[in-house]
Amino acid sequence: MNTDIQDIYNRLLSSHYYERLFSDLGNLKKEGRELITQCPFCESDRFSISTTKPLWKCWSCGESGDYLDYLQNKERKDFSEALIELAEIAGIEVNFDSDYQKSYQKKKIKLSLFEEAQTLFINSLTPDSPQSNYLIHTRKYGEEIKLMQLGAYPSTHKFENYLLQKGFSEEEIRDSGLLNSKLKGRISIPYPNQSGVISGFSFSPEVFKYLGLFSSLIVLKLKPEITPD
Ligand SMILES: [Zn+2]
Repeated sequence: MNTDIQDIYNRLLSSHYYERLFSDLGNLKKEGRELITQCPFCESDRFSISTTKPLWKCWSCGESGDYLDYLQNKERKDFSEALIELAEIAGIEVNFDSDYQKSYQKKKIKLSLFEEAQTLFINSLTPDSPQSNYLIHTRKYGEEIKLMQLGAYPSTHKFENYLLQKGFSEEEIRDSGLLNSKLKGRISIPYPNQSGVISGFSFSPEVFKYLGLFSSLIVLKLKPEITPD
C-alpha cells in the first residue's frame, strides 16, 4: 500500500515541523495563522508559511509549494530523498514504488485544480444569481453561505475555459471529475481535508443535507456573539 503524503503532512503540522524546516530563514514572525520571514529565493521579507497547511508562498517573487517542493527547490534534494526525510521525521514508514512520484504529482495537480475551481464557483455565486436568490429567500440561509464557502457551478464550457486559462490540460480537467454538464447551475460546497486543503466537492441537492446539520452548529456557535449582554 502506498503511503499517503497527507498522513505525513498531518503529523508534521501537529508537531510544528515548519518551525524546524524554515528555521534557517531567520526570525519567524507570527501573523495570524502564518509565519512571515525572509524569502530564501528573492530575499524579500514577504515569505509566508502556513501553520495550518503544509504550504509556503513568497508574496514577492511568487515561489510557492509544499514541504516536498521546499526540500527539492531550496535544499536541492530529489523527490524520494525529500519524501523519505519527511516520512522519517513524521515517524511514518514509506513504502513507495516508482509510480509513487507520478501519482503524487497527479494528486497535487488535482488539488490545485480544486482550489482554482473553488475560486470560480465562489465568483459564480453572485448576489443577483438565481442560486443566491434561492439560498437567501427560499432556504433562508445567511452566514452559512460564506462560512461553508458555497459557490455555483457555471456551464461546463465556462468551467473548462477557466481552467485551461489557469494552465491545466484538457486531460487534467477531465480527470478532475468535475467536467459534467449535470452540474450546471448547481450549488457547490467544498470539502476540506484535515490540512484544510479542498479534497472534493458536493453539489446540490446533497449540499442541503450538510447545510442543515451545519446551520444548527452555527446557531450554537454564533449565539454568544449575537446576544451580547
Ligand atoms: Zn521571494
